[in-house]
Amino acid sequence: MEKVAIVTGASRGIGREIAKELAKQGIKVVANYNKSEEKAKELKEKFNIDIFKADVSKHEEVKKIVDYTLEKYKTIDILINNAGIAQSKLIIDVTDDDWKRLVNTNLYSAFAMTREVCKTMINNKKGCIINISSIWGITGASMETIYSITKAGMDALTKSLAKELGPSNIRVNSIAPGMINTDMNKEWTQEEIEEIKQEIPLEKIGKVEDISKCVNWLIEDNYTTGQVISINGGWVI
Ligand code: NAD
Repeated sequence: MEKVAIVTGASRGIGREIAKELAKQGIKVVANYNKSEEKAKELKEKFNIDIFKADVSKHEEVKKIVDYTLEKYKTIDILINNAGIAQSKLIIDVTDDDWKRLVNTNLYSAFAMTREVCKTMINNKKGCIINISSIWGITGASMETIYSITKAGMDALTKSLAKELGPSNIRVNSIAPGMINTDMNKEWTQEEIEEIKQEIPLEKIGKVEDISKCVNWLIEDNYTTGQVISINGGWVI
């Protein structure tokens, strides 16, 4: 039987590449997007990937995407919690609204999506959940306090649920990327990127494919759970 996957925040960047890769392997993908309608439509037209508009920071919209997927495909085997936003600000300038926006988008979304999807996975006695966290959740990043907190929270979600859902044959893992070439990093100048490369043992910035390859591997695997897999060129060892 064909596997069914939901990928959040899949209109561009890492999520888009993951959605395309999964679809290439014959997995039925529901690619979630929030704002980039044009890019999402391109996924549907060029790659025959199902798309669904939802703001996954909101419970009612999380419910809608899960209900849609179950109604159409009857099951969910794979969940990739990828949607995320970054922010760089001094702690003294960070507002409560910043906190709510980042925590709801990066962390609550992963929690709420997982809570809905795992009901089906528990019934099926199988499932694979992957949280796209970050190197900064492991090390902490100056001027990215809330972002780092949300990503560390995702890793805690991974570890807790790996323990709770393991007996139901559901594997939960995080992939913690280092710096990957996507729009999220478009504010960096070429000079700054060259400086960062010098800190990375492999002397290069990662590509979206570096992350999707690990997703493929985690889906195929059956004995890895509760892990935070760093894909960062050796930036943090
Ligand atoms: P990106 O900005 O290109 O993609 C993020 C996607 O999330 C976008 O498509 C955006 O529309 C979507 N999104 C944001 N808020 C949403 C919401 N409320 N509902 C639905 N979708 C929403 O950046 P990316 O680099 O592809 O990031 C993907 C994930 O990887 C993020 O969670 C990010 O934190 C993480 N990450 C990226 C890097 C990097 O260097 N690019 C490093 C570590 C972790």
